[in-house]
Amino acid sequence: MIDIRNLEHRYPDGTFALKGINLVIPDGEFLLICGPNGSGKTTLIRHINGLLRPSRGSVLVDGLDTTRHEHEVMQRVGMVFQDADSHIVGETVWEDVAFGPENQGLAPGEVESRVLSALRTVGIEEMADRPCHLLSGGEKRRVAVAGVLAMLPHTLIFDEPFANLDFLGVQQILQQIVELHQAGHTIVVTTHDVEKVVAHVSRIAILFKGEIKALGPPEEVIPQLPLFHIRPPCFSLLGERMLSWLAD
Ligand code: ADP
Ligand code: MG
Repeated sequence: MIDIRNLEHRYPDGTFALKGINLVIPDGEFLLICGPNGSGKTTLIRHINGLLRPSRGSVLVDGLDTTRHEHEVMQRVGMVFQDADSHIVGETVWEDVAFGPENQGLAPGEVESRVLSALRTVGIEEMADRPCHLLSGGEKRRVAVAGVLAMLPHTLIFDEPFANLDFLGVQQILQQIVELHQAGHTIVVTTHDVEKVVAHVSRIAILFKGEIKALGPPEEVIPQLPLFHIRPPCFSLLGERMLSWLAD
């Protein structure tokens, strides 16, 4: 469980990026954090895996304070960054995915089984020997997901996972996220593009100017999206039932 209490974040230049955030994310939840550009989404999720330290308040992951248990927190919470290129550290897909478990100091046999299992999970086993720099944007993002999975985190955070992907790329990454949720992982996704994921989430949080303005199940929160300059899903504008972006 993730327990965020009265979290404030002020960047060194004085920018007040988060104010009074209170948010509990229970195990097994699929939470969508949406908000316009600059609303604080990336800042908030960076607190959840301990990459940033609160200016005020606290973030607890399974009861562990992120400021005192950085290593354990990073073990439990994996983050797939918006920019897939920023993830890539290995020459080949295999080397890249092995980087995390190797850094955890695992024995070579254990590293190998983790890498294989992560590549299988995201369906890119056959790409193991490909050089990372030759991959498409969608493939790079799947490699990034595999790299995080290989560290076996319970919670997975995806920052703008659909940015710059075509329709098939969106479907593939969405399928992956949905399957990870079904396998029992806690999932947090940030986006301003609610439509692509909303059919699969348990709750939506609206972040606006560093504050949570709404939090609840999709049917409760969707009508409030336009108040915060977030485009509602087409189906809701048309008064239709919830639609998934995954092919039927
Ligand atoms: P989002 O992910 O919703 O677009 P961010 O969390 O990236 O929002 O940014 C929230 C606010 O903090 C914005 O006003 C942004 O300009 C500011 N900000 C983000 N990173 C930094 C930084 N390193 N230094 C100063 N201000 C920052
Ligand atoms: Mg962001």
